[in-house]
Amino acid sequence: MQTMNIQENFCPKCGGPTENEGICNKCLAESIEWIVAEPRVVCAYCPTCESVKQGNTWSDTTKERQVLAEELALGALHVHNDVQDLHLTVESHEPSPNRTKCIIHAEGTLYGVPKTARVDVLIAWKKEQCDRCNRLSGNYYEGVIQVRATDRTPDLHERVRVEAIATNIEESLLEAGDRLSFVSRIDDTRDGVDIVISSHHIGDLITKQVTAELGGRTTRHPKLFGERDGKKLYRITYLVRLPRYRRGDVIEVKNRYYEVRSVESGTLKVFDLQEGIMNVIREDDAYRIVANVRDAQYVTVSFIDGDMAGILDPDTFMPITIPALAWLNLAEGSAFRILRDRENDRIVPVG
Ligand SMILES: [Zn+2]
Ligand SMILES: [Zn+2]
Repeated sequence: MQTMNIQENFCPKCGGPTENEGICNKCLAESIEWIVAEPRVVCAYCPTCESVKQGNTWSDTTKERQVLAEELALGALHVHNDVQDLHLTVESHEPSPNRTKCIIHAEGTLYGVPKTARVDVLIAWKKEQCDRCNRLSGNYYEGVIQVRATDRTPDLHERVRVEAIATNIEESLLEAGDRLSFVSRIDDTRDGVDIVISSHHIGDLITKQVTAELGGRTTRHPKLFGERDGKKLYRITYLVRLPRYRRGDVIEVKNRYYEVRSVESGTLKVFDLQEGIMNVIREDDAYRIVANVRDAQYVTVSFIDGDMAGILDPDTFMPITIPALAWLNLAEGSAFRILRDRENDRIVPVG
């Protein structure tokens, strides 16, 4: 707090009293262009997918054009650093189909002096094909994923899963803002599934997910196809080889039945369907695939007689008896699943 000996300063501009060394706050606030804007902002958008280019980057937007225009207008503003309590409102209209006019009403305080201003920004919309649509229309691709299986063809379940994995990954990449990774085409062929992809990134993700879920392994075969900005461009053929045995396959080994639980580098983790325990056996092409537990049928125990259980054969509806294996814990009325070994017409309980 200043007391005594007050030295009065006078503003050289208006002659009024001031606490400043030079001109007073009021004159200062008046002399400064406190808010300005670029009068015209050009915004490129893709007429096909409506994505918007900002700087050199395209991005998808779900915003309405009016909302986008007002954001661009606010982005074109330059406000003096000393402005406080800034309050902005925007209104807009479209004088022509490719122009949006935004009127910004600004209020603020500068050196304690209240200020208001009106700033106009014209948004000029420009059509331009985006990077993604450009890739799509040019049949651009960076790879093909070929899903095959060992000594068999992929089954319907595997084909459905492969397609679902590919489209889910495409969807999540798109959501994460990766615009250039997409699935161009999926072909369901006699030999397996072919997926044409636009980037190596999506190829790596799809093949990783497929082998994680369905087993098997991927080999990559790159091939040079051009150059862009001094960078070599490769197309990669990803060969995914699904394992001979699938999760859930029931195999017959030396007259015993096992359910395959997982396949890992040459070994099978199996569930012994006789003893009801887990086991590990070496992968061998010689095992006979009986069926898959996905195709098992439920039956109900009609009676227990010693170590035998009575059921209705689900195919013939005739009463039959099968061994009541200990691990099944069967009781009268309990339900469990069975498979049929067509080769010797044996019933195989799978629990
Ligand atoms: Zn003054
Ligand atoms: Zn586009």
